[in-house]
Amino acid sequence: MIRSILIHPDPRLKKVCDPVTGISPELGKLAEDMLETMYDAPGIGLAAPQIGVTKRLIVMDCIKTDEGAPRPMVLFNPEITWSSEDLSTYDEGCLSIPDQYAEVDRPSQVRVRWTGLDGQSHEDQFAGIWATCVQHEIDHLNGKLFIDYLGPLKRQMITRKMEKLKRELARQG
Ligand SMILES: [Zn+2]
Repeated sequence: MIRSILIHPDPRLKKVCDPVTGISPELGKLAEDMLETMYDAPGIGLAAPQIGVTKRLIVMDCIKTDEGAPRPMVLFNPEITWSSEDLSTYDEGCLSIPDQYAEVDRPSQVRVRWTGLDGQSHEDQFAGIWATCVQHEIDHLNGKLFIDYLGPLKRQMITRKMEKLKRELARQG
């Protein structure tokens, strides 16, 4: 089921999300809905708070459709256990901040530990776009958006654009 994605500014996007305890069938269904919503958008990552669920769950798939088979990933309670010293710059966007992009510097590689759909603990190293994406999504679980890395003027400009977009969407019903 495709869920509707919250648009910034929204208080639910500013909350620190709660850890998940035990992988229930309901959480499995939630992850499935999130992947469906992400592919439909389309996007390469989605965090539970973006659909109004303040739980520590992210999904992602950074494989481009012309690059081959999809690689959906579901991460419960993801935690960064190591970050590289060297940084990468990506022109980031966000499904909660449509059509707005800005360059953000982040560690170019990270190790992440998480609980999988199988209920088991996993740990893996991420690089390239996967590293940027996983850090962006984990930020969402802590109420942080990519625009929080920008200067106040740029951030306010984007926020005003989003407020205008939300007013237009509300008028359209
Ligand atoms: Zn985002």
